[in-house]
Amino acid sequence: MSLALARKYRPRRFADVAVQSHVANTLRNAIAGDRLGHAYLFCGPRGTGKTTLARVLAMALNCENKRPDHEPCGECPSCTRIWSGGTSLDVVEIDAASNRGVDDARELRERAMYAPSGEDRFKVYIVDEAHMLTREAWNTLLKILEEPPPRVIFVFATTEPNKIQQAAAPVLSRMQRFDLKRIGPADVRTRLLSVLAAEGLEAQPDALGMLARAADGSMRDALSLTDQVLSLGGGVITAERVREALGLVHEDEHLALLDIIAERRAGDVFAAVAHLADHGVDFATLLADFADLLRAQLAFVLGGSLPDLSDRLKEELPKRVKVFAAGDLLRMLNLVVEVEPHLRRSGQQQMLFETLLVRFALLDRTVDLEAVLRGMPDGAGGGTGGGTGGGAGIPAGGGAGGRGVATPAPLSASAPAPRAAVWEKPRSEVGASEAAAVSPAPALFATPAPSAPQSRRMAPPPGLAAASQAPEVADRPAPKRDLLPLDINRVAEHWDAIVDSVSSEHRALLLSSTLAHATPTAVTASGSVTLTVESESHAEIIAGGEAVIIGALRRRFDGVQKLVVRTVSPEGDRVPRRLNETAVKADRMATLRKQSPLLDAAVDALDLELID
Ligand SMILES: [Zn+2]
Repeated sequence: MSLALARKYRPRRFADVAVQSHVANTLRNAIAGDRLGHAYLFCGPRGTGKTTLARVLAMALNCENKRPDHEPCGECPSCTRIWSGGTSLDVVEIDAASNRGVDDARELRERAMYAPSGEDRFKVYIVDEAHMLTREAWNTLLKILEEPPPRVIFVFATTEPNKIQQAAAPVLSRMQRFDLKRIGPADVRTRLLSVLAAEGLEAQPDALGMLARAADGSMRDALSLTDQVLSLGGGVITAERVREALGLVHEDEHLALLDIIAERRAGDVFAAVAHLADHGVDFATLLADFADLLRAQLAFVLGGSLPDLSDRLKEELPKRVKVFAAGDLLRMLNLVVEVEPHLRRSGQQQMLFETLLVRFALLDRTVDLEAVLRGMPDGAGGGTGGGTGGGAGIPAGGGAGGRGVATPAPLSASAPAPRAAVWEKPRSEVGASEAAAVSPAPALFATPAPSAPQSRRMAPPPGLAAASQAPEVADRPAPKRDLLPLDINRVAEHWDAIVDSVSSEHRALLLSSTLAHATPTAVTASGSVTLTVESESHAEIIAGGEAVIIGALRRRFDGVQKLVVRTVSPEGDRVPRRLNETAVKADRMATLRKQSPLLDAAVDALDLELID
């Protein structure tokens, strides 16, 4: 078996350090100009070449064949030893993860006091995972960094410079910091191509794209994954071989899931997911890949495209451009962002994935958001004025037959009914001001806690309600038409809006903040809604606001009868803390946005709908 590719093709010269030429050139110029620093900090994600660069620097300084371009020769005994990470008198590599204490630092300091083994040589200490060093260890090192012996150089490598900042801010000012770039899929592909060419191997473009994506910014991973594929057999590297070696799901299966959502075949989700589970897929990976598919679809919907798409997707996704609205895809991506951290930790990955797809399939589709946004500056304020539910939001086609048959909304053909064509925001306002008034009074009076002051507003005495609302009620054939059918997915989906409506209706801060930490977990056919909270005290607060909460639910959902509050059992089954969830979500969103400028732009453009 040949040498692993990642090792075999590790750069031996500054010029070979892919993507990080900004650092490589600066270092080489520093050597040329005799302006070397005593301590460097290389920051960057894993697999971006931090250690490699440190070794090339050490090689260049200690090469036995000095070259005019100040590149290491890469072949002399010194270069070879350093390159391979073997023991060398003058170059010491330390893994801070296992040598992080003050004693280790002290020993390092002592050793560093000795001069290099020869007049023309440099001692180079490469400290990997430097963020693992303790504060005390840094303090010990600080002295030597302040008064460095001649021809001793420290290179600290870290993926988390902020931790060093926290533990030992003063040492940072003693170092020259370089930030290594994340290696993009295009650069990974280029590098893979040249490595494969050197090996006399061929790969399909799709296969390269898959490897580049799976490598996720790490050149080392890209080459190791390629090794993995090669270990299963020779010949041209095809997409199929990559899928097989890496356990990836065929994109046709992704597309099938996408179509289930498009066609709202929620019932088909279970069989499809079971089929995937039978084939042993990793649902966390599947979710990430599916999110990529949604992003790619979004890009096409917005008239763009993602680089590095397979030919199959380039052909298939444009066909679905009319099926999904950008707003729907953004909401789905947002839900993925919400669920992903839980799914990764959960023992119930299949169920979570399944539930997510069901939610997607049942998602109330937005109208063409652009059309709504375009309508907004016209003064009418778009939605709220509409009165007839989604009317304000429906683009164009309303004129003709009323049903808008001629103008396919961005729903799939089998999507049920124009009810879906309601824009989120206006609905909540309609809900607050109108639906409350026109909802059938008897239901409101069934509310079990008449003491709550808000009943003034939510449940006016029948006489008064009849007097003031009569004409409007008469206008409306079915007062319930604005209400959504009660099911857990919808309740979960609208939960934030319900919390908002409770807090705007009723200025009880404690109640609304507690409610924001509650999670709707079940709905029964008889109309009982279960909320799960983290503690007894939360349960009490919520029970105290029962009437308000039921009121808010009834303004949106049909048939709400009662509220059940459940506390999570201390062991297991914890309701995820909202605070964390939000943080994780924001984090993940930021990553997604960074990865895709298009998504970034879209999120900004549609900010209203998505984030609010
Ligand atoms: Zn050399």
